[in-house]
Amino acid sequence: MQTIYNTLTRQKESFTTIEPGKVRLYSCGPTVYDYYHIGNARTFTVFDMVYRWLTATGYQVNYVRNITDIDDKIIERANANGETMQALTERMAAAMFEDSDRLKLLRPVHSPRATQYIDAMLDIIRMLEEKGVAYRGANGDVYYAVREFPEYGKLSRKNLDDLRAGERVAVASDKRDPLDFVLWKAAKPHEPKWPSIFGDGRPGWHIECSAMCREVLGEQIDIHGGGWDLQFPHHENEIAQSEGVYPKGQAKPFARYWMHCAFLNFDSEKMSKSLGNFFTLREVLNKLDAVQGGETVRFFLMRGHYRSEINYTWDTLEDARQTLLGFYIALKDVPPADVALDWNDPYAKRFRAALEDDFDTPAALAVLHELRREINRSGSKELAGLLRALGGTIGLLQDAPEAFVRGAKDSGSLDVDALVQERIDAKKSKNFARADEIRKQLDAAGIVLEDKPGGLTEWRRK
Ligand SMILES: [Zn+2]
Repeated sequence: MQTIYNTLTRQKESFTTIEPGKVRLYSCGPTVYDYYHIGNARTFTVFDMVYRWLTATGYQVNYVRNITDIDDKIIERANANGETMQALTERMAAAMFEDSDRLKLLRPVHSPRATQYIDAMLDIIRMLEEKGVAYRGANGDVYYAVREFPEYGKLSRKNLDDLRAGERVAVASDKRDPLDFVLWKAAKPHEPKWPSIFGDGRPGWHIECSAMCREVLGEQIDIHGGGWDLQFPHHENEIAQSEGVYPKGQAKPFARYWMHCAFLNFDSEKMSKSLGNFFTLREVLNKLDAVQGGETVRFFLMRGHYRSEINYTWDTLEDARQTLLGFYIALKDVPPADVALDWNDPYAKRFRAALEDDFDTPAALAVLHELRREINRSGSKELAGLLRALGGTIGLLQDAPEAFVRGAKDSGSLDVDALVQERIDAKKSKNFARADEIRKQLDAAGIVLEDKPGGLTEWRRK
């Protein structure tokens, strides 16, 4: 039985779905004004894992990850670049998919773009106004009246009075309450705008997700996910919007399970632009081997439980690469048999139990380690097949082992295959000095040789 830690109840709960066998999964996607950050990569990888795992255990998962293509940062960046918002967001959305492919993220079933759901957003804002939870400010903006939604704060467990005490009241604010948030922003010069019954303008950020959820998945969804920092105010506001459209006291719960992924730290510090430790996924991948890098980052991210902060340094990434390499070496040495995944196998059973326990990937990976040791010991092709099949349920170990262990790192001018052959020939003609010289030359280039029975030599990256 799958369990999920629900942020809303602060408890691990049994997972049941609205429709039997079907999962409506929404996770907040990127704002496409720049390449995405390694911290976002963690969140996307976690929900990719959830998507793959639930699918592997028999659910039909409708996985939606939105694209925010209208927002202050996008407008600023497009203006600074002297390009249109559309040109910027098209380019960055394409780059987002490219980077995600390198990380081996499956494409979500739907990747809706906010600007294509403006009418749906306006519908919700109109319903909120009718229910008396949205109002028009004198400045033309439309706000959400948090005091009209008594459950405001239920996700983040924040108390409105405490929040107000911490809020400096903006001078000349058109808000009735400093915590009210904007649903629709009145048009300003040099900003994109859409016509509406509230006047020309553009949507606030929070309303985007409520609208895309409702349009693509329906009024109620099973799992809503995102990064830890989105709990407040973003997800709190999504709840207020999505549940605020119903008559008072008759609200249907918007999302049944809220999942939040913890932070990724660099060298034990929070990442920030000012500390200079803020990396895009692209920067990280470009420093790693082109063949091994994507899965190395993915494997590294899965070594931590999604609710635990994890620390990343270049050393921890290298350690992840070495461990992953160990799995691929095992699969290279013992070619996997093509087996159907049997959940009654003892290894498979324990692997499944780990992931069913709130997606405990570290415990699941520990089972794969044991399995690898057993494969190295027994040379069982069936167990190698099982290792590959289990890895596949969370998007690991699907590359061709030969290609993975060799990697792609530029070997300078070395023609590795030719040198390996020359060494074999040198050994045959008893020219051991030359054979040794070649081995040292390749070793210096980061290449390990493995002599196999029958005079064969295989090679891989260190
Ligand atoms: Zn969102």
